[in-house]
Amino acid sequence: MATGSGSLMWFRKGLRIHDNPALERASGASSFLYPVFVIDPRYMAPDRRAFSPGSSLAGLNRIRFLLESLSDLDSSLRKLGSRLLVLKGDPGEVLVRCLKEWNINKLCFEYDTEPYYQSLDEKLKSFASSAGIETFSPVSHTLFNPADIIEKNGGRPPLSYQSFVKLAGKPLWESSTLNLSISSLPPIGDVGSMEISEVPTIIELGYSDSELVDETPFRGGESEALKRLKEFLPNKAWVANFEKPKGDPSAFDKPDTTVLSPYLKFGCLSSGYFYQCLNDVYRDVKKHTQPPVSLLGQLLWRDFFYTVAFGTPNFDRMKGNRICKQIPWDERDELLAAWREARTGYPWIDAIMVQLKKWGWMHHLARHCVACFLTRGDLFVHWEKGRDVFERLLIDSDWAINNGNWLWLSCSSFFYQYNRIYSPISFGKKYDPNGNYIRHFLPVLKDMPKEYIYEPWTAPLSVQTKAKCIIGRDYPKTVVGHDSASKECRRKMGEAYALNQRLNGSVSEQDLKNLRRKLEEDRTEEDEELDGFLVKSVVDTHRILRSGACSSISAHRDSLF
Ligand code: FAD
Repeated sequence: MATGSGSLMWFRKGLRIHDNPALERASGASSFLYPVFVIDPRYMAPDRRAFSPGSSLAGLNRIRFLLESLSDLDSSLRKLGSRLLVLKGDPGEVLVRCLKEWNINKLCFEYDTEPYYQSLDEKLKSFASSAGIETFSPVSHTLFNPADIIEKNGGRPPLSYQSFVKLAGKPLWESSTLNLSISSLPPIGDVGSMEISEVPTIIELGYSDSELVDETPFRGGESEALKRLKEFLPNKAWVANFEKPKGDPSAFDKPDTTVLSPYLKFGCLSSGYFYQCLNDVYRDVKKHTQPPVSLLGQLLWRDFFYTVAFGTPNFDRMKGNRICKQIPWDERDELLAAWREARTGYPWIDAIMVQLKKWGWMHHLARHCVACFLTRGDLFVHWEKGRDVFERLLIDSDWAINNGNWLWLSCSSFFYQYNRIYSPISFGKKYDPNGNYIRHFLPVLKDMPKEYIYEPWTAPLSVQTKAKCIIGRDYPKTVVGHDSASKECRRKMGEAYALNQRLNGSVSEQDLKNLRRKLEEDRTEEDEELDGFLVKSVVDTHRILRSGACSSISAHRDSLF
C-alpha cells in the first residue's frame, strides 16, 4: 500500500494548465507533484526509412510542434514553482518505474479514447491498483464522454451527426465556471535514480540540419493556442457568421478557419474552454449560425467522430469494420506515390499536397479534394493508404477525426453519394481564378497564365515555353484523365455498393476478389486506352525525375519529398 503523499501527473495530450482537471486533482492535497512527460522513441526518434523526415510514426513538423508545446508547458509549470520532468523510453515501462521509485499515492492523467492508450492505461491502472495507488483519469479532451453517449444510444454509437447532437444535448458543465488558472503547484519530490532531462531540441532528438526544411508556420503550445483564440474572438461578426463548408480553401495568407486543430489535437487548448468562449460570443450577438455549419458545430463534429471511433471495433480499417463498405480498392503504388509526392499533374491537387508536406495543415475543403481524388474520385486507391500519409504529415493528425473523415470522403461510411466527385480543375478555380494558391505552393507554375493554371497541359507550347514550364519536363503530365477516371470510379463504386447491399454487408475477401475480377473483365476499350495513358504518364514522370535531365524538375522533386 502506497503511503506517500506525492502525485504523479502524466501529460500525454492535455498539454495545458487551463481547464485541466487531472492536473488540478494531482496538485490538490499533495506534498509533492511530479509532472511527467515520456518521450517515446517510436514517436520521436528519427527513422530514415520513412518517406519524409520524422520518426516511424510522425512527420517532423508534428514532432517539432509537440516539442514547442512541451517547452511552453515547462515554462508555465516553472512560473508555478514546478517544471516538466522529461523521461525517455517505452511510456508504460517508464511510468511503472516512476511509480515504484517515487513515493506516489496518486496517479493522474487525462482519459484517452484511442486504442493505444486504452490498452496502456488498463495495464497501468491495474499496476497502480495492486500497489495501492489511486488513479484519476477524467474525460477532458472532448466536450462529452463518448461512453455516455454510446450508453444513451443502447450500446452503439450514433452514426449520424444529427442523432449524435440530439443524444448529446448540452455538456453537464456548460454553465459551470472552468478553472482557467492555477496559482501555485506543490514542489517536485526526490527523483531518485530516474534519468530526467530538459525538453530536448529537435537536434538533440537526432535530426540533422538538412532535415529541418519545410517548417510549418504554426508554433505549438498553450500560449500560442490562447493567443490565436483571443485574436479572433473579438471579431464577433466573424464568429457569429462562421459557416462551413462556405469559406475559401485556397486562402493561405490568412486562412478562412481558426487553425486551432493542432492545438486541440495536443490539448494545448481545452475544447470545453473553446466551447464556452463561443457561447459567450453567441450570447452577445443577435443572430448566429447553428450546427452543423457554425463554429460550435465544428467542435461537435469533433466529438461526433470521437464517439463513433470509440464505439466501433476496427474503426481504422476496412476489414472487420461493421460501418465500412467493403470496396475492391486498387493496389497501385505508383498512383499513391504520384499523389503523395505532389506529381499527379493536377496543380490544384499537387499544391494541396505540397501544403500538407510543408505546413502540415490544409483547409477542410482542400482535404476533401485530395482525399476524394485519391480514392473514389480518380485514382481508386485504398483510403487507408491516404489516411497513413495524412496521419504522418498533418500537425493536427488525430486518430478518430482522420479515420472518420477518410471513411467519409471515400464513401466508405457516413456519406454515400459517390456520384458527387470534386473536379480537380473547376473546384479550386471557383475560389481562386488567378491560381495564387497554386503559384505559391508550386512555384514551377508561377508564370503560367491564369487561363491555363488549373490545366497547364492545355497551354500551347509557346505559352509553356514563355512560362518556363514545359509539361512533361518541368511539371508532370496528368496521371489520369479526370473525365474517364472518374467515370470508371463511379462504375466500380456502383458495383461495390450493389455487392454490399446484396450480401447485407457481409462481404468476404473472396467476394471482393471476385468483384475485382468482374470489374477487370467488364473493362471497356475506353478503359484500356485510359490505362495505357496512365501507365505512360506515370512512367514518363518517373523517367523525367530519375534522369534529372531538367534541373528545375529535380529541384521540384527535392522540394517535395
Ligand atoms: P475550424 O473550421 O476552425 O474548426 C474548429 C475545430 O473543429 C477544428 O480545429 C477541429 O478540431 C474541429 N473540426 C472542424 N472540422 C471538423 C471535422 N470535419 N471533423 C472533426 N472535427 C472537425 N481534423 C483534425 O483535427 N485532425 C485530422 O487528422 C483530420 N483529418 C482529416 C482528414 C480528412 C480527409 C478530412 C477531409 C478532414 C480532416 N480533418 C481533421 C477535419 C478538418 O479538416 C480539420 O479539423 C480542420 O480543417 C482544421 O482546421 P481548423 O482548426 O481551422 O478548423
